[in-house]
Amino acid sequence: MQTLLRGGRVINPAEGFDGAADVLVTDGKISAVGPGLDTPPDATVIDVTGLIIGPGFVDLHSHVHSIAGHRLQAMDGVTTALDLEAGLMPIERAYAEAAAAGRPLHFGFSASWGGARAQCLPASPPDARMSPASRCSATRAGSAPPPRANWPPGSPCWRPNSPAARWGSAS
Ligand SMILES: [Zn+2]
Repeated sequence: MQTLLRGGRVINPAEGFDGAADVLVTDGKISAVGPGLDTPPDATVIDVTGLIIGPGFVDLHSHVHSIAGHRLQAMDGVTTALDLEAGLMPIERAYAEAAAAGRPLHFGFSASWGGARAQCLPASPPDARMSPASRCSATRAGSAPPPRANWPPGSPCWRPNSPAARWGSAS
């Protein structure tokens, strides 16, 4: 099975190429790139004039942790989604759960420093999802916090005049 992408702008940083070209895909792999490629007899031709053809994008600042969200990113050309800002904790559980659930993209996340700090606080074990600490950052930045009902019991979110404002305190 062959597909010819006709008339796109090909960007290939690995080869330093950025220009108009056709791309022939044979059995799911790129078999030819160049201007004015001949059309194989049984190829499907797709006019991609005005579109960019390139390697997948690596999103270094993704907070998407769902299959549906990754599918949406794929429609934007993302092939790798990395949450390197907030991260997750415990990291080994987060990777195990993501792998078990399956993901349509390459994925990765850093260990959450906020989650690690929350481990020191009572009744707030990290759950390998977006951490309570990351939700706290919105509160500290002055924007509206999520409804209290959505916080896990014992959430250590910082709020003025609350016991939890004393980080590290068990009382
Ligand atoms: Zn972010």
